[in-house]
Amino acid sequence: MQARADVAVVGAGPAGATCALDLARAGLEVVLLDKTAPPRYKTCGGAIVGRALESLDVDVSPSVERSLHRVELSIGQGEGQGEGAGERETGLSFAVERSPAPIVMTMRASFDLRLVDAARKAGATLLAPSAFRNLRRAGSRLEVVTDQGGISVTWVVGADGVGSRVARAAGWGSSPRTIPAIESELRVAPDVFDRFAGAARFDFGLIPHGYGWVFPKRNHLSVGCLTTRRAGYETESRPLGLNRHFEGYLRALGLDRPLEREDHGFAIPIRPRDRRLARDGVLLIGDAAGLGDPLTCEGISNAIRSGQLAARAMIETRKAPHRTAKTYGDLLEESILPELRWARRLAPLLYDHPRLRGFVFGRAGPGLCEAFMDVFSGSRTVRGLLSRPANYGRFLGALVRSSAAT
Ligand SMILES: Cc1cc2nc3c(=O)[nH]c(=O)nc-3n(C[C@H](O)[C@H](O)[C@H](O)COP(=O)(O)OP(=O)(O)OC[C@H]3O[C@@H](n4cnc5c(N)ncnc54)[C@H](O)[C@@H]3O)c2cc1C
Repeated sequence: MQARADVAVVGAGPAGATCALDLARAGLEVVLLDKTAPPRYKTCGGAIVGRALESLDVDVSPSVERSLHRVELSIGQGEGQGEGAGERETGLSFAVERSPAPIVMTMRASFDLRLVDAARKAGATLLAPSAFRNLRRAGSRLEVVTDQGGISVTWVVGADGVGSRVARAAGWGSSPRTIPAIESELRVAPDVFDRFAGAARFDFGLIPHGYGWVFPKRNHLSVGCLTTRRAGYETESRPLGLNRHFEGYLRALGLDRPLEREDHGFAIPIRPRDRRLARDGVLLIGDAAGLGDPLTCEGISNAIRSGQLAARAMIETRKAPHRTAKTYGDLLEESILPELRWARRLAPLLYDHPRLRGFVFGRAGPGLCEAFMDVFSGSRTVRGLLSRPANYGRFLGALVRSSAAT
């Protein structure tokens, strides 16, 4: 006999697990399925910012390997390459110290497992390993086809990450715009580890159109980089060569001879897949919806938030499922989507104009760093910040106005 449930949530990352948790708490029958049984490695820096932690009412502290009160930002200590080649920037560095810690370090296998366990305790059924294959309509219900059999449901939630098979099966033709990112797990000598152990570090200026980071975990460093230029931008005269830039970054930090090294690469979505992120009983959340932040390139906050909003939409419309898509769309439009639009507007200033970036940070760096920390911690939004740019330097105000006009 075919299994039945109210909702099948496909993908047990932060988006899917928090969505399943809220649905189960509200008494809906939920199946949470993942092609890999948790805990599983996920290519990710595992940095969870305050706004993500705030939105969770799950105790994830056992998965926190290090709480960091200090965030360091360097601007253009190397030379911009790619499009900005030859534009030497001034070397600037800033540090922000806050309490409580604005950012905590996790390994995603353990962080995600805490969320999945909370969903299970609340009553969700975990099916893993169980891979989503396809979707079929059967009257007013949907049949989720997996490699373990079928499940008949009212709603399907696509939480299966950036390459979402659910989105494709449900007819979304477009893919989210993605950017490449590299993550390397490094074991280093104790004296090297100690140099990096006290802060989350972000470096702009060594990776063209992107940044590098060093995140200290319990006993090792997660070091990575991303570029906001897509593969395909690469040409013979201007190779993107993210791997090559990453090696340069490791050399610049003295991290090119670790004791052990494990490399991973993956994509981050920085633009929503579509204007409509739900239709005909299918809702997309997290990376599957393309909700990564184009300014910070952080994705966990919006994964959690969109999972919660999707759950709320289904709970509120449980007696009228034909209204779920509109309700979810409205909830996204009240919160995440306008924030992403503002972030998208600001991102080129950070990534594409190294000279301008150096100039702006030279004038208003400390205020900007504090402002970013406010956004990370959830006490302010990008939209709120930009509506009062005078707080963060008159130069930023002028830049935002000129960028908004284009
Ligand atoms: C190198 C790198 C570093 C990053 N660092 C950070 C960071 O430090 N902080 C931050 O906030 N964000 C970071 N991100 C972004 C972050 O990893 C994602 O935004 C986040 O994981 C999105 O969560 P999600 O639940 O939407 O999807 P995912 O975490 O990708 O989870 C999707 C789940 O779906 C499952 N799945 C996939 N296909 C199927 C299928 N067919 N059937 C069943 N299950 C399936 C997968 O196994 C997986 O468990 C980083 C990304 C990269 C690439």
